[in-house]
Amino acid sequence: MNKVDYFKAAIKANTFFEKEWVLSIFTRIVDGAPKSNNANLDLEAEGAALYPYRLFEVLDDPSHWYYYDPNSPSTLKKLEGVSRIEPIYGSDERLDLSPGDLKCVDRTIKNTRYYTCLLNCYVFEYPFQGKLKYSQKKFGTWIDGLVGKHAFLGDDPSKNTDNLITVPEIIKYHEALTCLRGMTQIATTSVTQKSLIPNKNVRALRDKLLAENKDKLHDQTVVVGIMQQLEALDRAELADDKSHSFYNVKNGAYSVKRMKVMNFYGTEFGFGDLDDVPKTFTVSLDEKLPLEDLPATIDTARFGSYSRGLLTALGGAKVKYAARIFQNSRIVMDDCGVKAGSLWSVNDETKGLLEHRYRINEKRMPELITSEFLTLNVGKRIEVRTPTLCMVESPSFCAKCLDKYLALRPNGLYLAPMDVSSGFMGASMGAMHGKVQATNDLDVDVAFGY
Ligand SMILES: [Zn+2]
Repeated sequence: MNKVDYFKAAIKANTFFEKEWVLSIFTRIVDGAPKSNNANLDLEAEGAALYPYRLFEVLDDPSHWYYYDPNSPSTLKKLEGVSRIEPIYGSDERLDLSPGDLKCVDRTIKNTRYYTCLLNCYVFEYPFQGKLKYSQKKFGTWIDGLVGKHAFLGDDPSKNTDNLITVPEIIKYHEALTCLRGMTQIATTSVTQKSLIPNKNVRALRDKLLAENKDKLHDQTVVVGIMQQLEALDRAELADDKSHSFYNVKNGAYSVKRMKVMNFYGTEFGFGDLDDVPKTFTVSLDEKLPLEDLPATIDTARFGSYSRGLLTALGGAKVKYAARIFQNSRIVMDDCGVKAGSLWSVNDETKGLLEHRYRINEKRMPELITSEFLTLNVGKRIEVRTPTLCMVESPSFCAKCLDKYLALRPNGLYLAPMDVSSGFMGASMGAMHGKVQATNDLDVDVAFGY
């Protein structure tokens, strides 16, 4: 069998369930495939777990791969046109698919990557069995949206006549996504000589910049400026490397971790007190930090641990404080009858804020704002009921001055301010994690509105 037919037969037999098989076709097996003396498979002697299309090494014929064919269990079949030196399917190798190759393939698909096909096997074929179709689009959160759009929302699954997606299928879909994490090592090259060995040019630039600025290293804008130049050079030097797509991301993993490990450790602030002198390390972790300066790094770690705990506690207290204040607020009537509201323009940015609130209509009566109404009235200005103008005695409100869903429970109003204060707590707790230090040019006209 040639390698295209082999792949198609294997995925049709659900062999992609076997992680070992996936690794064996997309990476190079050095040793580890089960061995047979010759193509006549002696099951008793072999003892290897058999699944359809598992690869075998035949000792009589070391230059080929053989596979177990469930249709002729006693003889291993030869995989034609494949070398034992390279992975069977390369990262950019492609095939054509026809309807019936998988349940999710309903049309001819030209020139799709083997990798893409495998992703489709997991994400579309296994959970949905043809209910959602093969896709060559870059996989992302849009698939969640697609699943949601086709989900069966009723109570009685036996009424699911429309090919809609059911809860057991959604559970399988989540299983599939979790499983994909285990495959990352086959598609992304990260371990290369160039990515693992510190770059001499970057270090030379570092030493030059540090020497030029040796009297200014107490100034964080200088340190950050040096860091940014080094990162730019490091990224440029990796641009032609196989690991490029792994490292070419803008995030802390590169700008903080890789920079600290390989190139330039940067500054530690100790306990963050104003009278602490920040300590700038002129080397990287790879070159070892000087022992006498370790207290600064240890103080930073202790301060981080302490302030994480402290800020979590303070943030939580603030959220509860807001909740307690607003627990006194109730919805005491349906409509206070106020005839005024605030003016809003309907546009893409305000649509989400306005849906489910009440506008004052042409008869000066409250009317629920629907998404259809918003779509028809883009560009217009409408008058919207607002808690600010509610005539109910403080601290309570009427239902029509609020949002339809917020008004569902008369004593549930405190959830709205908590949503805001939890956002602040989330932001301050997020800020506890290692952050990239960066500088930006300040445009005075923009910043101060001159
Ligand atoms: Zn009101």
